[in-house]
Amino acid sequence: MTEGLISTERVLADPAVSALDGQILWDPVKSLWFTAHAMIGLGAIFILPSVEGLVAFLVISAVTLCAGHSVGMHRLLIHRSFVAPRWLERMLVWLGVLVGMAGPMGMIRAHDMRDWHQRQSLCPPHPSHGAGFWRDFWWQVHCVFRLESPPQFVFEAKVADDQFYKWLERWWMLQQLPLAIGLWWMGGFGLVLWGVNLRIAVSLFGHWAVGHFAHKKGHQGWVIDGLPVQGYNLPGIGLLTFGESWHGNHHAFPHSARLGVESGQVDPGWWFIIALEALGLARQIAGPDSEPERDGLRRLN
Ligand SMILES: [Zn+2]
Ligand SMILES: [Zn+2]
Repeated sequence: MTEGLISTERVLADPAVSALDGQILWDPVKSLWFTAHAMIGLGAIFILPSVEGLVAFLVISAVTLCAGHSVGMHRLLIHRSFVAPRWLERMLVWLGVLVGMAGPMGMIRAHDMRDWHQRQSLCPPHPSHGAGFWRDFWWQVHCVFRLESPPQFVFEAKVADDQFYKWLERWWMLQQLPLAIGLWWMGGFGLVLWGVNLRIAVSLFGHWAVGHFAHKKGHQGWVIDGLPVQGYNLPGIGLLTFGESWHGNHHAFPHSARLGVESGQVDPGWWFIIALEALGLARQIAGPDSEPERDGLRRLN
């Protein structure tokens, strides 16, 4: 059966591809990685409570999630919404890997496969966050959705041939090691549990929770007519999510480096990009109007 699938930049669908036929399977590595960090991290709160631990947790979370995940990984590597020097791009992507979610290729693939699914006229419940809270948590954090006839996934040469990204992809879990050694040297074992284990567990859970609620309901400045899955803004947590909670805007303008595009929408990731620009380290920064409008884009009042 042909579903009349569209292709995206990196996801190429021929008539043999099905976006619907697949299975949700337990992913032992992903599941145990999260569970181990969550258990050790929660243990740290009760067994080794410390102010230094909390500070390490907060500072490293902010740096890795804002400069690393939101700016380096999402807005730069995945969407190419601005241009930065090669050394800076690699540094920001490394910080993004330090969040503990996946390597650079794994992140691009997860993002673009979900995006590809959400652009079709029919989207299965896994990539649409269609399930309720706990079931979706189980599906996203512990499982994978494996298609029977998947599309071809093509990485651009700039990423696929980059020796540093290939190395990071292979050893992404081990990137915690130098950080853990540094924390241990500065403040002992407790600091490692707070700054590595608890941080990874909270980052992964938070990332999933934002994705879950941002496809359920919330504020919308625009809709994409004709699509079953919409993105929503989650006002009030712009600061906490470094701008990623303006997900409705991101569906409307995926190419835009600025996520909080309307007045009053707090977007720390955008502030960071502006600061880089002031230092001469970011250029060709894309805004909502930098590319033609998406098909079906409609402004809501
Ligand atoms: Zn989305
Ligand atoms: Zn995106």
